[in-house]
Amino acid sequence: MTQAIPVRVALVTGASRGIGAAIAQSLARQGRHVVLVARDAAKLAEVEKSILDAGGKASVHACDISDTAAVEKLVDDVATAQGRLDILVNNAGITRDGLILRMTDEQFDEVIRVNLKSAFVACRTALRPMMRNKWGRIINIGSVSGLVGNAGQSNYATAKAGLVGLTKSIAKEMAAKNITANVVAPGFIETDMTGVLPQQVKDYAVAATPLKRMGSAAEIAGAVAYFASEEASYTTGQVLAVDGGMTMY
Ligand code: NAP
Repeated sequence: MTQAIPVRVALVTGASRGIGAAIAQSLARQGRHVVLVARDAAKLAEVEKSILDAGGKASVHACDISDTAAVEKLVDDVATAQGRLDILVNNAGITRDGLILRMTDEQFDEVIRVNLKSAFVACRTALRPMMRNKWGRIINIGSVSGLVGNAGQSNYATAKAGLVGLTKSIAKEMAAKNITANVVAPGFIETDMTGVLPQQVKDYAVAATPLKRMGSAAEIAGAVAYFASEEASYTTGQVLAVDGGMTMY
């Protein structure tokens, strides 16, 4: 007799818009209960409504993930309230771009705190409930900037490269516990983050992309859904660039 698969509980940070919202909607379509996290409670409620209206399961927690104690409490509270935590997607991220000669300590530290330290804290806290169930999926959202570097993004590229090291280390530490950890590294994706860029920068990025277009949030969500799936049980410590071919070699 095969064992029934329980309703998996997934926590997605940065789920109020953009890639995170698409990830949350996609995981909900797979039948997961999705916990949506970001600072903007009103935007989170809109994404939650879209999931509930489509017949999915979701709840929201407003939280500033740059606050270590708040992240620990959030993850603990979710695991307690839901009775389990199976999937963690560290997606929230910010940019504070600038050339290195002019980059301030504050610009560097803020990006490391939001894009890297928060993921470390969320992983550390989420691993305990995952270990209890001997099942877990961690998916960290990196960037092609973290793989090949990007002028004007030494802070962001450092944080995203750090996520790769963090993820591979977790993959090795947790393999025996049936917990996988992988990175999805988006290329140039159409969201608020890239919407503010000058047209010239957008044109340059599209020209550097073999598929000659920006990607969509849904195309990133598809890769995350795979890593989060039951079928991805033999895939860990991997970095999947979803970038229209931008970083292939
Ligand atoms: P976005 O549209 O700017 O959305 C960022 C998300 O992160 C929002 O939901 C935001 O919610 C949340 N967030 C930011 N700071 C937070 C904080 N301190 N606490 C809690 N939540 C916070 O960005 P996106 O384009 O969807 O990017 C999502 C991820 O993909 C990021 O990690 C980004 O680095 C990565 N990525 C994006 C691209 C791209 O081309 N768009 C390329 C490579 C990698 P609130 O403002 O409501 O808090």
